[in-house]
Amino acid sequence: MSEQFPPVAMTRLATQEADFNQHLDTLLAWEGVSDSTVQQRVHDILAAVKEHGDSAVIEATNRFDRLDVTSIDQLMLSAERLQQAYEGLPVVQREALTQAAERIRVYHERQKPTSWQYEEADGTVLGQKVTPLDRAGIYVPGGKAAYPSSVLMNAIPAHVAGVREIVMVVPTPDGILNELVLAAAHLAGVDHVFTIGGAQAVAALAYGTQTVPRVDKVVGPGNIYVATAKRAVFGQVGIDMIAGPSEILVVSDGKTNSDWLAMDLFSQAEHDEDAQAILVSWDAAHLDAVAESIERLLPTMEREAIIRESLARRGALIHCNDPDEALMLINRIAPEHLELSVEAPESWLSEVRHAGAIFMGRYTAEALGDYCAGPNHVLPTSGTTRFSSPLGVYDFQKRSSIIHCSAAGASELGKLASTLARGESLTAHARSAEYRIRK
Ligand code: NAD
Repeated sequence: MSEQFPPVAMTRLATQEADFNQHLDTLLAWEGVSDSTVQQRVHDILAAVKEHGDSAVIEATNRFDRLDVTSIDQLMLSAERLQQAYEGLPVVQREALTQAAERIRVYHERQKPTSWQYEEADGTVLGQKVTPLDRAGIYVPGGKAAYPSSVLMNAIPAHVAGVREIVMVVPTPDGILNELVLAAAHLAGVDHVFTIGGAQAVAALAYGTQTVPRVDKVVGPGNIYVATAKRAVFGQVGIDMIAGPSEILVVSDGKTNSDWLAMDLFSQAEHDEDAQAILVSWDAAHLDAVAESIERLLPTMEREAIIRESLARRGALIHCNDPDEALMLINRIAPEHLELSVEAPESWLSEVRHAGAIFMGRYTAEALGDYCAGPNHVLPTSGTTRFSSPLGVYDFQKRSSIIHCSAAGASELGKLASTLARGESLTAHARSAEYRIRK
């Protein structure tokens, strides 16, 4: 099988080269979400769903997922069907799913923010009240692969947050249902499942249709059509983030088995051709050894063609001078997944400023985090870890400020407010405050 492929043309860079920065910028650039053809198509789908509701969802689903349905009922799954999927799983799969779900739940329980308040000397009380969303929409990707783990990673934090109603969408190209995905929805407490995907699913969740309930926030990863649609509906509903293709940055001190690292790079590359897998090391011979492992192991991979394309298109082996330079690269790349395959990784932690999830030490394969370690696998990509965080309980809650003035407090604050309001020429503000000042 492998004879069909020439050696993978993976980019090799070295920080000491004069044009390194330029090469790195080119490597990291991701222009997918600004593709104008995709934008126009998504815009048309959103407009159709907004205007026609269910019928437009059916039409787009038939077209893009190659189905032949005539009623939205054919795109809904009952709670009984989800339970049946769960009960029908082989025991080993059911137990793995249940254990993963439990670990994810325990981790996310720790994230629960609490409401708080404090009282000032004059009896005024100030605070913050945390409230879960009424209804969350969860996008579970399903175009090229099925992701039961994404069901857990999206729905469990919503559940822990106390969301009242969880609506899940997942495409089923050619009508193929994935029993593990349905079982995960049962396990995670999803209330409604629609077998729709792409921009039409995001539109249905954001605008609501005759059948699909309108949600308050749409979360979850997806392809470029999903990402573009989420960006477009933001404002009408909340969104978690705009996710690009998956990424991994592995930093190695040269002492980790090169086959392990090659497989860690593959584990991202196999997601899709635009995924990005980068290895950084200050040990040149080690980079050669990983390159050799890559060539040797590639023919053993089921998704060999996708991995090859991804490594050739966006992968890289980067030689740097020392650990300090590796740290500089970490913060510059700001990766979704960072593997610190080094001795004493904890000593690196305080210097790592931008990374979605940090996998510490030689034993912590990123794949463990994808499925079952506990932390969320829905993570910011494309350098956005500079300003955003993994999906979590906090994404399914919002905060209200609480102000409860005593008479004495209103009188004191009134003087401040009146002065500032008159400075802005907002007389009603000033007088509203002044009425409450004690004479
Ligand atoms: P998807 O569910 O995101 O997209 C499938 C849908 O795209 C289809 O239902 C169809 O409606 C729409 N579509 C496909 N071609 C179209 C076209 N030409 N015009 C209009 N619409 C079209 O599934 P996918 O494609 O497999 O992508 C999933 C993505 O999610 C991958 O990039 C994967 O890496 C990523 N992912 C990320 C995480 C994470 O946590 N970051 C987890 C799982 C998957």
